[in-house]
Amino acid sequence: MSKAAGSIIVISGPSGAGKNTVYDEIKKKSDKIVQTVSVTTRAPRINEKDGVDYYFVTEEQFRKLIDNNEFIEYVQYGKNYYGTLKSEVERLASDGNIVILVIEVEGAKRIREAFPESKSVFLVPSSVEELERRIRLRGENTEEELQTRIGIAVSEMSLMNDYDYCVYNDDLDTCVNEVYNIINNISKG
Ligand code: 5GP
Repeated sequence: MSKAAGSIIVISGPSGAGKNTVYDEIKKKSDKIVQTVSVTTRAPRINEKDGVDYYFVTEEQFRKLIDNNEFIEYVQYGKNYYGTLKSEVERLASDGNIVILVIEVEGAKRIREAFPESKSVFLVPSSVEELERRIRLRGENTEEELQTRIGIAVSEMSLMNDYDYCVYNDDLDTCVNEVYNIINNISKG
């Protein structure tokens, strides 16, 4: 695992900050930028593919992975579990790849502790209203789930000072360029 540590960059921030959108744009700029596929117990959304967007598993399967010590980090987020597999980082960390983890803030904290050489970027949404709008756009099932996500997202904002970099996502192009420059500088350094 230590071989990989220098090339790990965490992109975190509240759900609705645009983490995945920003990652998708950055990915287009370099073949060396690769993302770990996380494991989740959440049901797939329309258009999400197993093994591409997530490894979708049952809660029982997730527990087995915990018991077998397969995760670098995992969290319960709302009613579901999410985790990063050690094997994913090992699979991707080769040939100068820059391994990006797009994860929520608890997991980001664990990665910083486990890999002090890793770097972390916090994406800041332009406003709470915008954040709520983006979370609603996802079409989560119930109003209760929505409110849980919005509540978590607002509390996550307070953690931005723990990060190496904070980038505002007011304008997508500007944000993408800024994050890409950060990643480039880190990988050169
Ligand atoms: P969603 O259900 O919207 O895909 O993800 C919910 C939250 O979990 C998002 O903030 C997402 O970045 C985060 N997440 C996805 N995979 C992981 C993971 O492996 N570990 C952690 N800690 N968070 C994750």
